[in-house]
Amino acid sequence: MNHVFQVALPLPLLQHFDYLPPSGWQGPPPPVGARVRVPFGPRQLVGVICGHRSASGPIAKLRQAHAVLDQGSLFSEELWHSLHWAARYWQHPLGEVLAAALPAAVRDAGDAAAARGDFALRSLASGDPRLRVDSAPWQLLQSLQSGARSWASVRAQFPNAATALRRLEQLQVVERVVLDASPRLARIQGPPLNSDQQVAVAAVLAALGRFGALLLEGVTGSGKTEVYLGAIEPVLARGGQALVLVPEIGLTPQLLSRFRERLAAPVLTLHSALADGERARVWQRVRRGEPLVLVGTRSAVFAPFARLELIVIDEEHDASFKQHEGFRYHARDLALVRAKRLEIPVVMGSATPALESLHNAATGRYLRLLLPERAGFAKPPAVALIDLRRQRLREGLTELVTTAIGEHLARGEQVLVFRNRRGFAPVLQCRDCGWHAECDRCDRPYTYHRKRERLVCHLCARERPAPRHCPVCGETTTPLGIGTERLEEVLGQRFAGVPVVRVDRDSTRTVGSFERLLAQAQSGAPCILVGTQMLAKGHDLPNITLAVIVDADQGLYGMDFRAGERMAQLIVQVAGRAGRGHKNGRVLIQTHYPEHPTFSHLLTGGYRNFADHELVLRQALLFPPFSAMALLRAEAMEEAPLHAFFAAARLHLPTDTTLQCIGPMPASQPRRAGAHRVQLILQCAERRTLQAALSGLVPTLYAMPESKRVRWSLDVDPQSLD
Ligand code: ADP
Ligand code: ZN
Ligand code: ZN
Repeated sequence: MNHVFQVALPLPLLQHFDYLPPSGWQGPPPPVGARVRVPFGPRQLVGVICGHRSASGPIAKLRQAHAVLDQGSLFSEELWHSLHWAARYWQHPLGEVLAAALPAAVRDAGDAAAARGDFALRSLASGDPRLRVDSAPWQLLQSLQSGARSWASVRAQFPNAATALRRLEQLQVVERVVLDASPRLARIQGPPLNSDQQVAVAAVLAALGRFGALLLEGVTGSGKTEVYLGAIEPVLARGGQALVLVPEIGLTPQLLSRFRERLAAPVLTLHSALADGERARVWQRVRRGEPLVLVGTRSAVFAPFARLELIVIDEEHDASFKQHEGFRYHARDLALVRAKRLEIPVVMGSATPALESLHNAATGRYLRLLLPERAGFAKPPAVALIDLRRQRLREGLTELVTTAIGEHLARGEQVLVFRNRRGFAPVLQCRDCGWHAECDRCDRPYTYHRKRERLVCHLCARERPAPRHCPVCGETTTPLGIGTERLEEVLGQRFAGVPVVRVDRDSTRTVGSFERLLAQAQSGAPCILVGTQMLAKGHDLPNITLAVIVDADQGLYGMDFRAGERMAQLIVQVAGRAGRGHKNGRVLIQTHYPEHPTFSHLLTGGYRNFADHELVLRQALLFPPFSAMALLRAEAMEEAPLHAFFAAARLHLPTDTTLQCIGPMPASQPRRAGAHRVQLILQCAERRTLQAALSGLVPTLYAMPESKRVRWSLDVDPQSLD
C-alpha cells in the first residue's frame, strides 16, 4: 500500500492531482490544508493538500512531491469549509479558490512563518494543577502574571523557554500576541449616540455570539459609522477581532482615521496596494488572534481570523464587492457564509441597500435596523430636476445650474459637480463630414483627453494622438459631449479665482493624490469639486451645500436589469454629499426624462420607495432576487468558434423547462480589443435547479474541445451583464 497526497493546485482545472510523499518522508501524514511543493510538467507549483488515499494499484506514473511545507493546516476548519462552499457556489476550481485566500508571499514562497515578527506572551490563567510547582513551564507562567512579556525577553531569561512555552500552549494557559509598536494616538471621544443609533448598537450587541444578518439602513449622514464603532468597541474589549469590509480603501481615508482615533486596538488594512510582505504580516497577525480591526476590500473576506466576532460591510450595495474576473466571488455572500459557521453577526450598512438585501430583509432573513434621520444638525437636502429639453446648454450646464453654483460659492460654500465620464469629451468628431474617431478593435468612439492631446479607448485602453484635422475631409475636429476634464476647464473659466478640484481615475493615479485632493476640500474654503463616482462614496465634507448631477440619463434605459438600481443609488449617494453640516443642502439633477418613474419614485418617497417599485417590477419579470442567474460568457477573435462553443454548451444543459436560457447573444459590448463577445444567460426561479444544472455543465465546459478555441467564463450571480 502506498500513501498518496491529493493536492489542489492553483490552476484553472477542476481536478485534484495525486502525488507520492517526498523521498525519505516519514511520520504522520500532513493534515489537509497544509501546503506542498510539487513538480508539474517542467514547473514547480505550491498546492494545498485536500485529501489522502492509499493506492494499491500501479503507482509508477505518480510523481513525488518535493516537500511538505507546513506541519499544520493553514486554514481553520471554518475557513476550509467556507472556501469549499465558495468553490461549489461560484463554480470555480478549488485550487484557485484556496490560492485566493493566501497572501502571495505565503502562496508561492516557502515559509508561512517567515512573516512572524517578534511576539509577546500573555497568560490566560494564573496557574494550572497539571503543572509541577517550580518546573520551567510553571516559572514561565508565573513570570507572565504581572503582564505580557516579549518573547525575546522570555527567551533571554529561561534557557529552555521553547519547551516550556510548548507545554503552556498545550494546556492553553498562555497565548501569543503581537506587541504593536506603532504609538497609540490619544483616543478621541465620539458624539453621544442619538436614540436610533443606540437602538441599532444594542441590536448588534444583542446579536453577538450567534449568527445574525443585520441590515443597517441609514440615510447618508445618519451616523452609520458611529454604530459600527459602538459595536466594535465591546468586541475588542473582550479580546475579539472585527472585520470591516469597504468598497475601496483609497476612497475611505476618513473612515480609517476615525477608526484609529477612536479604537483602543490596532486598525490594520488589507487591500490591493499593499506590498506582499506587509500583506503576509497582516495575515499572520489576524491568524494569531490578536484583538484588532481589519479594514479591507473584498479579498479581506478570506483573512484567517482566529477570534472573529463581528463583520461589518460598509456600503453593502457596492458593486466592487463582486470580483469581476477569475474567481468571481461576492465578498458579502462569503462573509455571510463564514459568519454562519462562526456563529457571529454581520452588519451590512448602506443608505441605498441592494435590492437583494431589501428583499432578504422583507422575507425575514435579515433583521432591518433603521437610521431615518441625519445625525447632529444636518437636514436632508432639497432635490430638484432640471428638464434639459427646455434649456439652452453651455458646455453641458444649464444657466440655472451655473447661477446656483455662483450663489453657493458667493456664500462661502462648496459645490460638487458629478459627471460619470472622465476625459475631456466622449467623442472627437468632424462637424463637416460626420467622421468621428473610433477604436476599431472595440467599435466604440475614443474618448478625447485634451490635456494629453490623446484619444483613449476606455474599453481596451488603447491610445493614440488626437488628430487636429479630420482624416477624411481635412476640417478641424471638434470635441462632442462633456467629460470631467472639460467641466474642470469651463468651471475654472467661469468662476475664476475659485479652485476647481477634479477627482477621477486620471487625476488620482499617484499614491496619496486622492487624499491630497480631498484635504483641499476638507479645509472648507469655497471650491468646486468635479468628479466621477469616486466622489460619491461616503466622504464627509460638511461645507458642500450644492450637488449637481450633470447627466442623470445614463442608465435610465440601459439593457442591464440593474441599471435603474445603480442609477438610483448613485443619485442618492451624490445627493448625500450635500448639506452634511449645519447648512441646508441642495441637489440639482439635469435630465432629458424628468417624467421617468425612477425620478418620481425617488423624489416622492426616497430610495426606499424607488426600491419597492423596482422590486415589484423584478418580481413580474422574474429577475433576481426573484430568480437565480448565471452568465456564460465567451470571446474569440473569430465568430465561428463562439458559435461552436455555445452550441456544444447547450447540449449539456438539462432540458428542464424551469431553466430559462436567454441567448446566446452578443454582449452589450459586442467587441473588445478585437475580440467578439457573446453571452448566454441562464435563469431559474429555483436556485437549486440552476446550481444542479451548472454542476453538470461546468466539468463539460472544462473538458470539451470547443472550449479550447475561446476564452470563456461562468459568472454566478453576475452583477453586470456587460
Ligand atoms: P454615515 O456613515 O451614515 O454617512 P457618519 O457616521 O459619517 O454617517 O456621520 C455623519 C456625520 O454626523 C459625521 O460628521 C459624524 O461625526 C456626525 N455624527 C454621527 N453621529 C452623531 C451623533 N450622534 N451626534 C452628533 N453628530 C453625529
Ligand atoms: Zn470630415
Ligand atoms: Zn478599444
